[in-house]
Order: sequence, then structure tokens, then C-alpha cells
Amino acid sequence: MKIHKKYNLTKIINARGTFTPLGVSRSTTKISKNVANALEEFFLIDELQELASQKISQLTGANAGCVTHCTSSSISMAIAGMMTGTSSNNVALLPDTMNMKNKVIVPKGHIVNYGQLILQAIRLTGAIPIIVGVEEECTLKELKTVLQEDNVACLLLVSSRLVKDNKLNFKDAISLAKEYDIPTIIDAAAQDFRCKELLSLGADLILHSGQKYLLSPTAGILYGKKKFVDAVYANEKGIGRSMKASKESLIGVISAIDERLELDIDKWKSEQSLKVKYFLNSLNDIKGVNAIEIPDYTDLPFSRVCLSLDVKSVKISTFDLTNSLKESSPQIWAIDNESKNNKLVFELIPLHINEIDFIAERIQQILKNTYY
Ligand SMILES: *Cc1c(COP(=O)(O)O)cnc(C)c1O
Repeated sequence: MKIHKKYNLTKIINARGTFTPLGVSRSTTKISKNVANALEEFFLIDELQELASQKISQLTGANAGCVTHCTSSSISMAIAGMMTGTSSNNVALLPDTMNMKNKVIVPKGHIVNYGQLILQAIRLTGAIPIIVGVEEECTLKELKTVLQEDNVACLLLVSSRLVKDNKLNFKDAISLAKEYDIPTIIDAAAQDFRCKELLSLGADLILHSGQKYLLSPTAGILYGKKKFVDAVYANEKGIGRSMKASKESLIGVISAIDERLELDIDKWKSEQSLKVKYFLNSLNDIKGVNAIEIPDYTDLPFSRVCLSLDVKSVKISTFDLTNSLKESSPQIWAIDNESKNNKLVFELIPLHINEIDFIAERIQQILKNTYY
């Protein structure tokens, strides 16, 4: 944390997950050294993209890939690519889509807000979102009706904890779209651990954030059928100019994929699970605290810790505890969207043991003078 000292910056313990306002993730030393080296050198950017494409193929099994500035950029560029193809005339025309298929079908429950409403990333290209179903459910019948409309460019699905519709089966939706010759994009920003499984669903383009669990600098990783990847990359010379990958993010993605390919996933999983068990034991030793392990709803290969307070033995609420943790030094951030329902969730993946100990100690201190 030398940099924090030098510029007098707020220190953070991030148990909030891959959260953009906190800087998302911790890169490994190997990745950050490669990125630092890249900043001091020149490259042929197309060559870096070509190498990144090969690495992405190796990781995911797709036949091509490319790197963009971030997943929000990838959403816009993927949709742009579906509308323009590789035609430089069309690329130059966006966001004017008068002569192109410009409707993007999105199930209502997949309209997520990751700091920006996903509809805006669609509209930015000139495309028109067509929203289907209700928040909790979009049926295949409803989907079929809109797939038959004129001028449909693609179907956009989101695979994330933020999605509210857990009923729509991706494989069925994608097969249905194929019957009408409509390509599908999946925004699976935080789901790089599931890349092969997602690709097997038959989607045409899949999008991940490099900076989430893959641990690269901010970057969008996009892969799928070569003709679609080429169409997306063509848009770097159009509306994608402000969404381009930098040399440092390209080198960062390439080295992050190298590390992922070498990762012993079973060993990693058991390390994460040990951290969870360790933290559970520390928390359950504190009077007034109940902590349980909760698996990820979207089948990511790790679980989190969910804390609840025993309202009969402590005078403060989980919401108050959340605020006190944020006032600690370093500040402690956890997943607090359900703190009003007496649930505070901790994601431990980037944390060192001394940080996990510090969280438990702080909770103990905060609760100390609040017992009945
Ligand atoms: C994080 C996230 C994004 C945005 O990713 P960036 O790389 O920060 O642009 C988009 N969609 C989902 C589902 C996300 O979780």
C-alpha cells in the first residue's frame, strides 16, 4: 500500500466482490510487472490483438476473440458489429442505422444496471432495444413473437447475479433465435470461470471483463465466431474508437490468460474454501453473530460468507454494522444490498489472511458495547 501512503489515499479492504468503484480486483505481481513493462515500449497493436485472440481461443475454445476497453464497451461494439458486419461504409454510418437491421431483443429481467443501465450501451450504437416479457420471466413463446419481427439484429442475454429472470433457459433461447437466423450475444462479465460452459450453449459472441476474476487491468474480452469478432473489431475505426484496448491492457489480458491456463483450479478452489471456513469460525466465535457459507447463485466456483446479527443479543442492526465497518481504517466494504434484511455478505477471494483477521476483529470491537 505504498502508493496510498505517497498520495495520502484511503485504504480499503474489499470484501465487496469485483466492484468497479473500489478498483475491481488485485492483479498478481507477474501481471502487473508485464503491464508496467508494456507501458515503456511500442508494439504493433494488431499483433497484440492477434496474440490476444490466440490466447482467448486457447482459454475458451472459441475460434476467435478480441480485446476492448471493458465489458460495457464490448456490449456496444458487439451490437455495432452485428448491425454493420465488416462493411466500412456501415461502420462509418453509426449511430445512424437507417439502412441496417437495428433491433436488439432483450428479456426484461436481463436489463441489468452495472453502474450504467445496459439499455444505454445498446442505444449508444443507434440500435433500438426491444424488451420482452416481465421482470421475473420471459417465455419462449414471447421471445418467438419478437424474433419474427423485421430488422432484428441480435438477441442479447445476460448471465450475472444481477439478472432477475432465472427461468429463461439460455440454450433454448439461443436455439430458438437460430431458427430465425438471429445471432445471440451473452454478457457474462464476471463469468470467465464458466467460459467453456457458456460457449457450449451455442451463443455467437460472449463477453467477459478482464479486470474481474481474470485479474488483468480494465479490459473487455470478447469471443465467438470469427466473422462476428471481425465485425466487432472493424468498429474500432468507428464508434468503438473511444472503446479501444490499450497496449497495457492487451499485455495485461495476455499475461492474465497465461496465468489462468496454468492455474490449478482444484487447488484454487480448496484455498478459497479454506478461507471461507476460517472466516466462518472467527465470526461464529463472536457473541451475537451467525455466519453461514453461501454458494454463488450462478455456479461460479467459490462461495461467500453471509453474516446475520442475533437481534435478541445485540442492540445494533446489520445496517449499522455495515456503516461502522465502512468507517474503519482501512475501510471495510462488504456486499450490503441486503443489509436491511439482516444479511451482510463477504467475498474473500482477493483478501490476505491478515485482512480477514482484521475484519473479524473489527466486528468484535464494534459489537463489544452493544450487548443487552
Ligand atoms: C461488470 C459488469 C459489466 C460492466 O463491465 P465493465 O468491464 O466494468 O464495463 C457489464 N455487465 C455485467 C453483467 C457486469 O457484471
